[in-house]
Amino acid sequence: MAKTKHRDRSWAPAPEALPEGVRVVDDHTHVASVVPFAREMNRQAIERGQAPVPVYGVGELLAQAQAVGVEGVIDVGCELPDLMTAVQMALDHPGVVHAGLAIHPNEAVLHGHRGAAGPDGLPVRYQPWHETSFEDALAQVERLARQYPRQVVTIGETGMDLFRTGTEALEIQREAFRAHIALAKELNLPMQIHDRDAHREVIETLLKDGSPERTVFHSWSGDIETAQIACEHGWYLSFSGTASFKGNAQIRDSAAVVGLDHIMVETDAPYLAPMPYRGRTNAPYMIPYTLRALAEALDLPLVEVAQATRSTTRAVYGV
Ligand SMILES: [Zn+2]
Repeated sequence: MAKTKHRDRSWAPAPEALPEGVRVVDDHTHVASVVPFAREMNRQAIERGQAPVPVYGVGELLAQAQAVGVEGVIDVGCELPDLMTAVQMALDHPGVVHAGLAIHPNEAVLHGHRGAAGPDGLPVRYQPWHETSFEDALAQVERLARQYPRQVVTIGETGMDLFRTGTEALEIQREAFRAHIALAKELNLPMQIHDRDAHREVIETLLKDGSPERTVFHSWSGDIETAQIACEHGWYLSFSGTASFKGNAQIRDSAAVVGLDHIMVETDAPYLAPMPYRGRTNAPYMIPYTLRALAEALDLPLVEVAQATRSTTRAVYGV
């Protein structure tokens, strides 16, 4: 059979809603980015003669999530211009949106390093805000976290990303990660970790500096052995749509290793849409699909897993 020529840019249908009284939180998402992402999907669809794709605003996206049982989200701003966007969204939707703030590891590499060679000779796309030094960018994270303590509930996403990263960038990332670890401890906030192809480096750094009391691996991508290390140290695992992908049995089986009181669920929207809608635009209303995959891996009722993630979210972030 011929491969589909153009990918489907439309929204995936809403999953079956969680039962009345069962509510969950998407503990890592980028709702602000879903809007322009959908706008781009719509542009591409029209260009290819496909049906237009509706572009929903933040309020509509949150309402769609609530309609299926996702009562809240942690919106993560991890580029300098997005920090206040996340805080403002939390101010605009009290009790529904909470903010996570950090300078993403890939962003940390760009700050104040204009002109540095890109890893593996790939072009580096500097933006005007990269003129700001990493120290000043992180100071902005700290300032907002102190100014909006009710809105900012976590420092993240921070960590290391060794996907196409050279040695120089690795060292910059490690130092940036360490600065975030110190900040999370200083502010007594939980920390969300971005770990892409960097399990060893992330764990080494956490153990060397001492992990914050509540440490969460966002979009968990580790294997069983790594999950055992996480379990030993009381770290939390947050599962995204990747836990539902066919080849990722180790990811979803990690849930059983750390146990129900250490797992959470997220979208990381607009990317990483869960099965059976991999490749579509992701948004918080997709959470129940990922919950289903986790429940199957744990061989537990969906409701039990959903409620476990809800109470873990409360224990970790206080929301
Ligand atoms: Zn993210």
